[in-house]
Formats: sequence, structure tokens, C-alpha cells
Amino acid sequence: MASLPVLVLNSGSSSIKFAVYEASGEERRKLFEGAVDGIGTDLGQFHIKDAVGNTLVDQTPAVPTRAAAFALVAGALNSGEFPRPVAIGHRMVSGGPTIQDNQRITPELIDEMERYTAFAPLHTPIAVYIMREALRLFPGVPNFVCLDTYFHRTMPEVVTHMPIPEEYSAMGVRRYGAHGISYESIVYQLQPHVPGKLIVAHLGNGASISAIRNGACLDTSMGLTPTGGLISGTRTGDIDPGVLLFILRKIAETAESASEAADKLETVASKKAGLLGVSGLSNDMRDLREAIATGNARARLAVDKFTWTIARWIGSFVAELGGLDMLVFTGGIGENDIDSRAEICAGLDALGIVLDAQRNNVRGAAVISAEHSPVTVRVIPPAEDLMIVNHVVRLMAQ
Ligand code: AMP
Repeated sequence: MASLPVLVLNSGSSSIKFAVYEASGEERRKLFEGAVDGIGTDLGQFHIKDAVGNTLVDQTPAVPTRAAAFALVAGALNSGEFPRPVAIGHRMVSGGPTIQDNQRITPELIDEMERYTAFAPLHTPIAVYIMREALRLFPGVPNFVCLDTYFHRTMPEVVTHMPIPEEYSAMGVRRYGAHGISYESIVYQLQPHVPGKLIVAHLGNGASISAIRNGACLDTSMGLTPTGGLISGTRTGDIDPGVLLFILRKIAETAESASEAADKLETVASKKAGLLGVSGLSNDMRDLREAIATGNARARLAVDKFTWTIARWIGSFVAELGGLDMLVFTGGIGENDIDSRAEICAGLDALGIVLDAQRNNVRGAAVISAEHSPVTVRVIPPAEDLMIVNHVVRLMAQ
């Protein structure tokens, strides 16, 4: 069986992360991974490490633009020092209403996905830019898009449809969900014993939660954009639309145009709200926990709002699933913040969720529920890159 080096690209607003896996039949082996951080600054960071963490490249170049950042990645991978990829998989948060399936990337497909930038405004511009650059700098290498919305395609219409006039629904405004590649990877890791009634909480800087029945998504907290659903690092999550109108009218008093007012509202709702907005301190859970330890009441309120919201969603998902077999925590907070897990589960014993304090007192993968807990509670790190490789290999074979 031929062995294929597959490059996985996962870009954020100020960084490009990448990894190369060797895919041979059913086997997957990470060869190396790297990142360019600090895009837009004179002091960027570019590193590549092998699968066991040995540093292969460690540089601090100026990275004024995305172009400069991706040129570093393409330069290294085309240099002959590393195996050249035979296929490239791109993570994409949302492809809009017309692009629902993971598939081979063409220039036309990129244009179509770009039309729906408003559905993931923080993520789409950099992702489509990198796709165009990858087609240009790796000529002849097939590129594939892997959508975070793909896992959520099984949600029924009653879940996805928004209570708005039909003219906006016809424009593709509906619930799509996000973090789908992470959810898929949790289901994948639970195979062959995927519980029938499963809730997965992906709690990172962006946070969401999904109800999964027999391995297929039934409901998820994020909506049209990743700003909906749970309160997260800098995002409001679901909020009374009247609040957004109130803020918009305030902004409009001094804005010079409607689009400036809309941009400012977007910044408030997705970059200045959430844990950062409530605490006035930080979007980072580690900072908030430190502040709580010194008696900071706003940090306490921010974290309480976070854990309270998640507990409410768990309650509604248990009702929707008609019970619960397993709850999984994942993402930076889900994997590492012992207190958040304890606080979320504290009032949920009526739902059969009983943590074991000792078992919960660990970082990383583990069963953390009590022996007698009707619901098993687990911590499982996501394996998003691996899922993207799996999709690429499947699509290459078609
Ligand atoms: P992610 O977006 O999945 O990388 O997760 C980022 C979030 O995870 C941030 O809020 C971090 O504060 C949080 N996080 C990472 N490590 C820890 C830790 N050791 N303890 C508490 N929170 C952590």
C-alpha cells in the first residue's frame, strides 16, 4: 500500500498551524508539525517539530503579512528537507449554504465559499487566502476542504431553521454549528463503542456543545456563526436580540456609515464580550482562575456565567436525547480546567451525572465519573488533524 504524506492546514487570524501525516492504508503517523505565529508583527515565530517534539526549525522572522507567513510554510515544505505532501487538507469553519460536503478544492469552490464570509467572519478570510496560496505554491497537489459544519449536517430542520422571515432563510441564514471536526474526532475515538446518547462539550477559547445520537449530530449550540450558543472567551453566545439592537443604536450615534456600525457591533459581540467582557480582565481561563483565587468578583461572575450556561445546555440536551449515556469534555478548558468540570457537573446529579473528585483531579484523557454514576463522564482530547487526514484519504480514493 502506497504511503502518502498529507499536509493539514488549520489557520487562525494570527497564526497558521500545519502538520504532515503519513497515511498508509488504515495507518496514520504524524511526521512533523509546525506553526507560524505573530502574523502582522515584526517578531513572528516559525517552528517545526517532529512527532516526538524534537525541534527541527525554530526561527523568529518578521511576518508582516499572511503572504509572508504562508511563504515560510511553503518554502520549508518545498525545500526537499521534508517529504513533499501529495495532498493537502484545509480546515474550514463554514462553506455557506451551498457547500455542505468535504470535497476537492477548485478556484470556483473558493469563490463560492468566500461569498459567505459573513457566516464565519473571523475565520473565512484567512482560510480562503491560504487555499488560493496552496493551489499556487503546490502546483499539481490536490487540495481538499474539510468543513466544521459537515458533522452537523444530520441535524433536523426543526433544529437548523431560524425563527425569522422566509426571505432571510432563503439567503442561507440558519443554524450550521461549528467545531464539527472536533466532535467527529471524539465519535471516531469512541468507536466501536459509541454511546447511543452522547453529549460532547468542546470548551476552548471558542466553546460549544453538541447532542449526538448514535454517532450523528442531533443538536449543537453554535448557530449561523461561531458567535452563537455558549458564552466563550470573547463571544456573547446566544443573547436577546434586543441587546444587540441597543448596542447598535449606541454605536450608530457616532458611526459614519452603516457598515462601520455593523463592524463595530461585530467586534463587540465576538471580540470584546464573553469571559473577557464580563470579567473585564481576560478571555483566558487560567488568568480568571488566578484572579478568583485572589477574590476578584468579576472573574468569579464570568466563570459562573460560563459554567451555568453549559449546565443549562446539558439539561436541555438530556431532554432532547431522552436520557444520557456519556458526557465528554474536550478543548483547552474541558481537558485542563478541573474546577470548570466540577462546577458544571455540581448540580447535575439529578440527570445521573456524578463526578468522582479524585478522578476529576487529573489533566488529559480519563474517565472522571464516580463508579456508581449512571452517566459516564470522560475527558478526551480532540484529534482534528487526524480526522482531516482521514477525509483526505477517503476523497483521494474516490
Ligand atoms: P483552546 O481554544 O482549545 O486552545 O483552549 C484555550 C482555553 O483553554 C483558554 O481559555 C485557556 O485558559 C484554557 N486552558 C488551557 N490550559 C489550561 C489549564 N492548564 N488550566 C485551565 N485552563 C486552561
